[in-house]
Amino acid sequence: MNALICLVSAAYSLLSVPAAWLQAVDSIDANRIKAAVHYLASDELEGRDSPSNGLNLAAQFIAKSFDRAGLEKIIEGSYLQTTTYKNRRDIEGQVSNVVGVLRGQDPLLKETYVLITAHYDHLGKNERLDGDQIFNGANDNASGTAGVMELAEVLAKAEFRTRRSIAFIAFWGEERGMLGSKHFLESNLIPADKIVAVINLEQIGRTDDNEGPRIAAVSMTGYDYSDIGSLFSSLAEASGIKTEKHTRNSDAYFGASDNIVFAQRGIPAHTICTAFMFPDYHRVSDHADKLDYENMAKVLRLIGLGLLTIADSEKAPAWNLDNPRAKRFHDARSGGN
Ligand SMILES: [Zn+2]
Repeated sequence: MNALICLVSAAYSLLSVPAAWLQAVDSIDANRIKAAVHYLASDELEGRDSPSNGLNLAAQFIAKSFDRAGLEKIIEGSYLQTTTYKNRRDIEGQVSNVVGVLRGQDPLLKETYVLITAHYDHLGKNERLDGDQIFNGANDNASGTAGVMELAEVLAKAEFRTRRSIAFIAFWGEERGMLGSKHFLESNLIPADKIVAVINLEQIGRTDDNEGPRIAAVSMTGYDYSDIGSLFSSLAEASGIKTEKHTRNSDAYFGASDNIVFAQRGIPAHTICTAFMFPDYHRVSDHADKLDYENMAKVLRLIGLGLLTIADSEKAPAWNLDNPRAKRFHDARSGGN
């Protein structure tokens, strides 16, 4: 750990977590998360391919939960940012990102955003397979999607508001090349220079990592590329969850999910997961009954506290210039938006 990181980490560790924040994240409910994952990963949604009817059913389900939470709509009276997409097999259809906002309360900072995101699409089905043909994608990534929905639910119900605004977003098309997040950024719905950080959730349900059990700990990709990794680590005591740099995968997977689309525009953006690789990865057997929902609720407590800390801080997260791998992402922002 280098000097800069220590300094930043010390600065964050001086921040105490307000009791109201703890109360909000304590209401995260494992059963509610479980119900959401079971629906998103059900056979009815046929693996949520882009485009497909199952994908659109999932979008409506997520939008309904944002509506129940009372999130603000920023797309002409809707939570859906819809476009048309034709896939490689010439199947064309409507696809949507789902976007809802919890408005901040600072007169100036409320125009800036922290994004909490997850892709909700998956691989669809393969009719040439014998037996089970549906890629249910429970851990990848109904888990992250349900996490975004649950955080929207508990943070919107809380009486406090952070200084900055928080945008809750579920992306289509990650499995087909991060298409939904690219469309979101190119649309300027929230301009890149108003986004201070992106926390992306992937595979937060399985604790049976191929490398061994992963309980009460998460990994962050690009852990020491910005000061967000050390911020999350400093919340270990308050949340009961450790945030770790995986010696090989934290860097190797930095470009493997939607966070990279934002990082390439210079926005500090990371993905959080429990396991990088798990036994049913991209198989039809990635089923909802294999997730550890109690652990997932605890992981979401940490993510909620991290999100609130960034959203309530006047200081925006920054790339770690002592890490040569972070330089090009820092330069992408300086290069101007
Ligand atoms: Zn994924």
